[in-house]
Amino acid sequence: MSIAEAGMNAKGKLRSLCLAIISVFLCLLTACQPHKTVQRVNTTDTAMGTIVSLTFYDLPKQRENMGEELLEMIRSLEEDILSWRMPDSRVALINQNAGGQPLALSEELYKLMVDCRDVWQRSGGAFDVTLGTLTSLWNFDERAMTKDGEQLPTKEQIRLALSYCDMGQIQLNETGVCLGQGQKLDLGAVGKGWALDELRTYLDNLSEDERPEGAIISLGGSILTYGRKPDGLPWKVAVINPKDDTSTLGYLELEGMWCVSTSGDYERYVEIDGVRYHHILDPHTGYPADAGLSGVTILSQDGFLSDALSTACFVLGKEKGMELAADYRVEILVVDKNGNVDMSDGMKRFFHGEENLLNP
Ligand code: AMP
Ligand code: MG
Repeated sequence: MSIAEAGMNAKGKLRSLCLAIISVFLCLLTACQPHKTVQRVNTTDTAMGTIVSLTFYDLPKQRENMGEELLEMIRSLEEDILSWRMPDSRVALINQNAGGQPLALSEELYKLMVDCRDVWQRSGGAFDVTLGTLTSLWNFDERAMTKDGEQLPTKEQIRLALSYCDMGQIQLNETGVCLGQGQKLDLGAVGKGWALDELRTYLDNLSEDERPEGAIISLGGSILTYGRKPDGLPWKVAVINPKDDTSTLGYLELEGMWCVSTSGDYERYVEIDGVRYHHILDPHTGYPADAGLSGVTILSQDGFLSDALSTACFVLGKEKGMELAADYRVEILVVDKNGNVDMSDGMKRFFHGEENLLNP
């Protein structure tokens, strides 16, 4: 080897060493850099007959459209499965087939029906998703729009509609479901909470670099908190004052994944001759539930349960409602017709009463 060659080699080695050091340094720099995220993004629209709001924190840039995507998912859950109004949904087909041959159910819908039957049984029939004929008769969705000249359904109409309302009359097993003649399903009391469970599963199944750091999703009266906010502070979920739904009674302070559902007599109703007729019906009387409550809020890590039990406990009233909530190990807050608030011991750990989030 010549001296000149030896010199070039030494230079070459030095250059490669420098290049190696620079590339290690660059690699470390990129590894340390967080992947690009959008700090906070909100999508608000309507679906399932209510206002839907989806807020994501630290959302990976490549998933910027997650709000629209999940909104589409909520709409297809409604159109393909839950809605009794949309002619091609599974529930509409089950209703059309009442009194006929059993219809096959997907695994998820079978589980939903079994869970509904469990709440029906344990609530002593206060919760019953076969009350579709009765809810169609009251038709609160359309009544809310036209308040004048309204008439109550007659006692005879209610008696007839009630005869179809009984979850015990349906055939339900792994191979399918069949309603009794004249029966109609209405999953309005559970659809939103169940949809939150589906959204949570979707988020759980995303890879870490596609998942937002935190999310809060509100589907009408049901809310999902997920993950954490970048500021590390807990989620705050307002509890609406049922006596004045422009104000709040306080808020729940929550860490991580929770579902909160509220049922109240202020959500959908019609007033006839000074009497308020609201949309939560007592399957034993056929009339709006009148067990002394104006609002019920349930806190659970299961969206279906939070939604089903807020409706069931509203119908049952304070004592029985609190017993049912304890039976299912969920937390409950009730507001009676005079505005008095009561709650389970567990709920006290989450509830803060002083601050009004809507009118601070
Ligand atoms: P929510 O706002 O979750 O309490 O649900 C109320 C909706 O559930 C109503 O609009 C009806 O569609 C349906 N519903 C009313 N009363 C009952 C009941 N006792 N059991 C099951 N579903 C009910
Ligand atoms: Mg409900």
